[in-house]
Amino acid sequence: MFKSKLPNLGTTIFTTMSALAAEHGALNLSQGFPNFAADPELLRLLGEYSTHGFNQYAPMTGVRELREQLSLKTKKLYGAHYDSETEVTISSGATEAIFAAIAATVSAGDEVIVFEPAYDSYLPAIDLCGGIPVYITLHYPDFQIDWDLVKSKISPKTKMIIVNTPHNPTGSVFSENDINELAKIVADRDIYLVGDEVYEHIIFDGLSHQSLCTNSALKEKSFICGSFGKTFHITGWKIGYCFAPKELSVEFRKIHQYLTFSTFTPAQYALAKYLENENNYLSIPSFYQRKRDVFLESIAGSRFEFIPSKGSFFQNVSYANITDANDAEYAIQLTKTIGVASIPTSVFYHQKLDQKVLRFCFAKDDETLQKAGEILSKL
Ligand code: PMP
Ligand code: GLN
Repeated sequence: MFKSKLPNLGTTIFTTMSALAAEHGALNLSQGFPNFAADPELLRLLGEYSTHGFNQYAPMTGVRELREQLSLKTKKLYGAHYDSETEVTISSGATEAIFAAIAATVSAGDEVIVFEPAYDSYLPAIDLCGGIPVYITLHYPDFQIDWDLVKSKISPKTKMIIVNTPHNPTGSVFSENDINELAKIVADRDIYLVGDEVYEHIIFDGLSHQSLCTNSALKEKSFICGSFGKTFHITGWKIGYCFAPKELSVEFRKIHQYLTFSTFTPAQYALAKYLENENNYLSIPSFYQRKRDVFLESIAGSRFEFIPSKGSFFQNVSYANITDANDAEYAIQLTKTIGVASIPTSVFYHQKLDQKVLRFCFAKDDETLQKAGEILSKL
């Protein structure tokens, strides 16, 4: 009989809930993807590059123009310099970048600190490398990190810490203090970081994104993973990237080279051109803040409780005032009976911690958000 290397893994909750939403004709606020189109200009550029012959393998590290644009953007926004030739790599989505960063770093027996709730791709990657996850549980409603607790979990075997800001599924974001505390913990230790920063441009209320690269001590040890899927409403293009110092990028590229070798060529050229206009990404925070507010206004009179999301395109709500049903069962029930699909947040904890909290994705057109809010407000 075939012996599975990941015996406990099934289909992701995102696939499951999207399928359930489709089956029941429900409004799908579960899986995180926009239901509206990308900028026609970006789509035009994709067609243009494809029509004009940019269809063969891209360089293994990514199209030079795109690496250069990313390097410029990071310098401009965070004041951090990455050499576009040796320290920026284009990947097939952030999923690939995160996997490659973990695979390049973690060996059998190494410990990896994972904050929960955690995005679902981290653990299988750690498992496949023989790493040992060390969990730190964050709690509703503010999901703040207790850095003394983190310090107490560090051991001689700690090899990596994975952080995600703005955070999926909670909508919390790192403060400058979080960055400083993290820097103190890894100082003088052989600990590396994955910074999952795919929502870097989706941050609200005047807050600024605290990238790991803003702190030079953290930058030296970090694989910072990003994705155009979130920023430009093109999750299906699967174009991501990784910033890492040269020494780490060399190792990252060894994995990337044999996972995918290179990434979809015409999209890289299109994105490089599109990034030349900084307004294309500087306009994203206000665009999504408005979406968040449309959704929150639509459930303002409901029995759900919430703290407005600070970043990402997710809003967590507590339904403790409505029922004490288990969150996974409740999410399924709402999809089937009232036609609104969400994600139960217990799935982001290895012990399935049920805090009576659902995650709604507000990357949807206004009509969908308002209709969903109207239905939810009747509960
Ligand atoms: N990290 C987080 C926190 C995410 O929410 C996602 C995507 N939804 C990813 C990584 C993966 O990004 P990509 O689709 O570019 O692979
Ligand atoms: N990141 C998206 C979410 O959190 C889903 C991506 C996926 O389906 N793998 O909903």
